[in-house]
Amino acid sequence: MPFEVYTFRSSGKRLFAGKNTPHFHAVYGIIAHKQTIMQDIQTEMRNRAKELLESKQAGLVVGFTLDEYGKPTPAFITDPDDVGRLVWNDDCVRSRHNLVGCLKRDEVRKLGKPAVVVNAAGKRAFNVLIAESQREPGDVVLIDMEPEPRDARFDERYAKLAMLDTMSREERFAFWKKEFTRCFKCYACRQVCPLCYCTQCIVDKNRPQRIDTSATLKGNFAWNITRAFHLAGRCVGCGACSAACPAGIDLDLLNLSLARAGETHFDGYRAGENPDTLPIIGTFSVEDKETFIR
Ligand code: SF4
Ligand code: SF4
Repeated sequence: MPFEVYTFRSSGKRLFAGKNTPHFHAVYGIIAHKQTIMQDIQTEMRNRAKELLESKQAGLVVGFTLDEYGKPTPAFITDPDDVGRLVWNDDCVRSRHNLVGCLKRDEVRKLGKPAVVVNAAGKRAFNVLIAESQREPGDVVLIDMEPEPRDARFDERYAKLAMLDTMSREERFAFWKKEFTRCFKCYACRQVCPLCYCTQCIVDKNRPQRIDTSATLKGNFAWNITRAFHLAGRCVGCGACSAACPAGIDLDLLNLSLARAGETHFDGYRAGENPDTLPIIGTFSVEDKETFIR
């Protein structure tokens, strides 16, 4: 057989190469080198986690482990001898889990000071929590897996909006109607979002009941638009809500539209890029042009 197929699950790509050709050796060499680097990073991460737990600098490490299908899923490690369960591979890099979202859970708060494995979006989410006085910088140890910001990726994601930009208002309304029809109010989007941290969500309040809780189109519009407005200027674009939505609604499109508007109208503002930057929502200046603010 002149060619064999090698499938590398971690890259999700199928590579074709003759087994004894220079091409094969070059490709395999690159992959093997990359996997060695990932393993080194994983070892370093586990060592750091062990050190934090043993020295009691953290009571809990939140990171990734693999589920029964080999996919990354959150792990909560309290015993230094369990750090071997922590995993870092290509799927974790691509994962849209935002582990900072776990910090709001009471079960996690009870386990002591947390250390959290974060990518660039996780760091931005933590910065928003600091800017909104929900956390102090020293409250959490960040195990930073992505030291360099990936601004380019954020820009690339605006490209998704081109599809909406070409639509008329009527077409956009029809598009969202079709999307929101599928929502059945499971609230998974809210549960995974690191920035949906209200102790009582507006949708759970019934005196007065501001949002229709039925999974009808009217109630679904009210829920999804209200949530998007609450995330305006705060969403860090991690994509955790889109990934969690069992109805496959691309909530990213909604959040990105508002993120782009924030960036366009507020001097290039991007949520979470700097913990010292005041949030655009909830901040005002007496110099503001709008009269309603005075
Ligand atoms: S709303 Fe934004 S910050 Fe929240 S989960 Fe979705 S993408 Fe992440
Ligand atoms: S996760 Fe999807 S289906 Fe569930 S409430 Fe959010 S938008 Fe609706």
